[in-house]
Amino acid sequence: MFHRKDTRPVRVGDLTIGGSDEVIIQSMCTTKTADVKATVAEIHRLEEAGCQLVRVTVNNMEAADAVKEIKKQINIPLVSDIHFDHRLALAAIENGIDKVRINPGNIGRRSKVEAVVKACKERGIPIRIGVNAGSLENHLLEKYGYPTPEAMVESALFHIGILEELDFHDIIVSLKASDVPMAIAAYTQAAQAFNYPLHLGITEAGTLFSGTVKSAAGLGALLSMGIGSTMRISLSADPVEEVKVARELLKTFGLITNAATLISCPTCGRLDIDLFSIANEVEDYIANLKVPIKVSVLGCAVNGPGEAREADIGIAGARGEGLLFRYGEMVRKVPEAELLNELKKEIDIIVHEFNRT
Ligand code: SF4
Repeated sequence: MFHRKDTRPVRVGDLTIGGSDEVIIQSMCTTKTADVKATVAEIHRLEEAGCQLVRVTVNNMEAADAVKEIKKQINIPLVSDIHFDHRLALAAIENGIDKVRINPGNIGRRSKVEAVVKACKERGIPIRIGVNAGSLENHLLEKYGYPTPEAMVESALFHIGILEELDFHDIIVSLKASDVPMAIAAYTQAAQAFNYPLHLGITEAGTLFSGTVKSAAGLGALLSMGIGSTMRISLSADPVEEVKVARELLKTFGLITNAATLISCPTCGRLDIDLFSIANEVEDYIANLKVPIKVSVLGCAVNGPGEAREADIGIAGARGEGLLFRYGEMVRKVPEAELLNELKKEIDIIVHEFNRT
């Protein structure tokens, strides 16, 4: 099996996907791409949340034209999502897109595929082949009867073959299904079949709650096996939530180096402070920090101090007050009403110190 470190590195703008343990976080705009102002505003919010690569739909010529202006106003690479119409791909490429998501087998005549590949080669733009269990080619459905992991991998190999014939190798592949076990099997088989980097995703995963659980189950299994060089969490929610979930998932596997982590206890009858609100406020406060600090918020002074010592900064509740720990040492006692503000101040100090070193 090709571990993500062993995949072929593919450049996308100033990023490299594949060939290392890094997993790039991406998301997709919900705006009409032709609405440059709204699209740029959404991309700025995604950038702020930690999104590293963003996709927009290019479903008409107005959208392809908008790419030029959007590119001028954003800081992360831009991907165009295109189905069938090679003229839209050519226009997006002409306008400075960094990556094209298109399935070469769906473009039509060979001359059209050649035109897209030639344009991508000239500008060093990669192509993402997006296999989807819900839209497999007819010849595969006839062969397998219904979508299967094997059919999905065969579909990927079919599209890869077209690009390789044209000596094009800057390829990234996704094999998305909304059925989690099917997606896990398809990605696992793909990681055995070829060494192009894999873009992970559970498609149509659902709402913020159910989609997060499904995506974490599917992508977590794959990430833990070393599969996946980029990922998008698909949620029926604000795309900023997709980025937040992706970052949390990568933190879980130690695959992100620039994120703060919150440790908080589930609480029990020993709870001595209003822990849920403090934990939620701290989570919001550290959400966009780009430093690898660990913050703990624990409810009581029984198990709390031991756990809090493991973190860079932490509190353990006591009756009407909290014990503040910093790098394993108890710093001071703080009245409950001031705990949150004191903790935020300490976090700011640690972040400041980290950024200075
Ligand atoms: Fe209960 Fe204290 Fe453990 Fe929290 S830290 S779960 S309040 S024993």
